[in-house]
Amino acid sequence: MNDQSKRVNDDLAAYWMPFTPNKDFKANPRILESADGLYYKTSDGRQVIDGSSGLWCCALGHNHPKVVEAIREQAGVLDYSTAFAFGHKGAFELANMLRDTMPGSLDHFFFTNSGSESVDTALKIAIGYHRLRGEGQRTRLIGRVGGYHGVGFGGISVGGMVNNRKFFGSLLPGVDHLPFPYNPDTMSMSRGQPEGGMHLADELENIIGLHDPSTIAAVIVEPAAGSCGVYIPPKGYLERLREITKKHGILLIFDEVITAFGRLGYASASERFGIEPDLMTTAKAINNGAVPMGAVAVQKEIYDTFMDETKAGVELFHGYTYSAHPLAVAAAIATQKAFKEEGVYENVRALSGYFEDMVHDLASADTVTDARNLGFMSAITFAHKDGTPMKRAGEIFQRSYENGLKVRMSGDHIAIAPPLNISKSDIDKIGEIMRKTINEVG
Ligand code: PLP
Repeated sequence: MNDQSKRVNDDLAAYWMPFTPNKDFKANPRILESADGLYYKTSDGRQVIDGSSGLWCCALGHNHPKVVEAIREQAGVLDYSTAFAFGHKGAFELANMLRDTMPGSLDHFFFTNSGSESVDTALKIAIGYHRLRGEGQRTRLIGRVGGYHGVGFGGISVGGMVNNRKFFGSLLPGVDHLPFPYNPDTMSMSRGQPEGGMHLADELENIIGLHDPSTIAAVIVEPAAGSCGVYIPPKGYLERLREITKKHGILLIFDEVITAFGRLGYASASERFGIEPDLMTTAKAINNGAVPMGAVAVQKEIYDTFMDETKAGVELFHGYTYSAHPLAVAAAIATQKAFKEEGVYENVRALSGYFEDMVHDLASADTVTDARNLGFMSAITFAHKDGTPMKRAGEIFQRSYENGLKVRMSGDHIAIAPPLNISKSDIDKIGEIMRKTINEVG
């Protein structure tokens, strides 16, 4: 190793990178230096299209002037305020804005700093709610195979991605899982919601029957699954989950960390599909990913139960030092306003057909086995190369970056989920780079 590469290597050694093959990365680093709108600039001076909205979070693209200004201004006014027994104006303003944004009676908002914290918060609220109503035996939680609900112990327990669970076990003993909501034999290459998968939701009746409904607190699903490779709910599937959970007094949690705030062309997947969950977890695009933040939306009836059944003192023994952090809140207010002022959700609705055509055009390549999409959320599945799982997708991920496009790799899937305010010509650019990349990788 020459002196210079040794120095570079030493410079990269101390940082233990999350969800990253550290050794591979440090041998061949991808360093992002700045960003503007749809583009990142790399340390070697190249422009790279952000085809994954950061990590599904930069819905308005990068360094949106209204968001940047709001953070700057807030930093000089109130840098920090504890959320325990104190409040600041912005936190209440944001909660009111979100109440006006979310469907039905999802009227109350608990602020967190991430999707993982939103999930653990929602699970705790669900269990606490039943206990306050005299049903303390309802502690069991039902997740789903393939589900991603972050990395807290609650989230990995209800989650269904094997690698996230296998080293750590499942902390919560009373957990079961719905089957994967997809059948490749009948649903592959579907545009939007696939047909014929409602029976996959019926399985919930069997799981409930096995454990007895009176022991189950909540069912948690991503209304459209993201991290396991973008799986869109079959027609009627979510409706059926809502019906079954309601019948048995079980809370339904939609994990909308990816789908909330425009990804599907609406403020939430709940609005998109016309189904109201009891709790909704959010994060990411809530404030354009500019400062860590999440929020749990809670039905009025659940909030009222905590208020009414707790005779005095703290109603929920839960919270974070940085809940409703003033900088995160300022960024969120600016982001939520920009979504409306700039017609961002409308843009997704107007261009989602164009985006869908781009994705399915790419899927005509011989090396592609499947593609799925809804709104500005899509994934393409690649066949194994040389019999090795993830090899082709890995090469596509790396080569597309070299060709000027950042995408997200998950197993054999490449997810494309661009910022929500892009134009037709931006979609064309993404399509061109992906096509070139798929041809080059072969
Ligand atoms: N839930 C879902 C559906 C997610 O997609 C994610 C992250 O991608 C999380 C939870 C965890 O969010 P975070 O990484 O902010 O903790």
